[in-house]
Amino acid sequence: MLTIRHKKPECIGCDMCVELAPAYWAMGDDGLAYLRIVARTRGDFSFGEGFEDDRDLLIEVADECPVAIIEIG
Ligand code: SF4
Repeated sequence: MLTIRHKKPECIGCDMCVELAPAYWAMGDDGLAYLRIVARTRGDFSFGEGFEDDRDLLIEVADECPVAIIEIG
């Protein structure tokens, strides 16, 4: 499994991650995207897991996030 790191408080709500990878992100009532499944949190960071088959998609999302708050490991 891949590790997804998301710094939700810095999200600007552009909706890109939700559009590209709705299995992983959803838009909250607060206008910030959130990881659907959070394995753990640390400070401002939420950590989730991604399937290896979704590697290219998740890297695309991380690359396209306009505020670069998504990292895939
Ligand atoms: S792509 Fe980045 S800024 Fe846009 S909604 Fe997702 S986390 Fe927020």
